[in-house]
Amino acid sequence: MPQTRPDRKLGPGHDEFWAWCSKGELRLQRCKSCGGLSWPVIDACEHCGSTELEWEQMSGLGKVVSWCTFEHDYYRGVLPIPYDTIMVELAEGPIFISNPSGFGREDITFEMPVKLAFVDCVDSAGQFSLPVFAKA
Ligand SMILES: [Zn+2]
Repeated sequence: MPQTRPDRKLGPGHDEFWAWCSKGELRLQRCKSCGGLSWPVIDACEHCGSTELEWEQMSGLGKVVSWCTFEHDYYRGVLPIPYDTIMVELAEGPIFISNPSGFGREDITFEMPVKLAFVDCVDSAGQFSLPVFAKA
């Protein structure tokens, strides 16, 4: 049964991101002009401003560079509290904020290696695959 999550941001760019996730692929936008990799979803390259972007598959490998536990009910019961959030530095460079899968804050050490996984989730727009990270 899918986990209920707060509503995703949808629309141009975001829809493509989630479509790749539904295929089990984490893809970020690579600029065809300068080669820069951007995250979160952009309309134009954050490095050079080009709008020539392509979706590049990430390796799914990274390391935890920061983490925190949310104890305030920001989502009014949609997301049970407390919950852990991790900041993952992807092997390709960008920082990706996610949730840990199969481990919690007590298990985390700085620069702990992690690998991509997906969790079946649902929001008001329907079912989707949420990228999360497990211990590598
Ligand atoms: Zn660029």
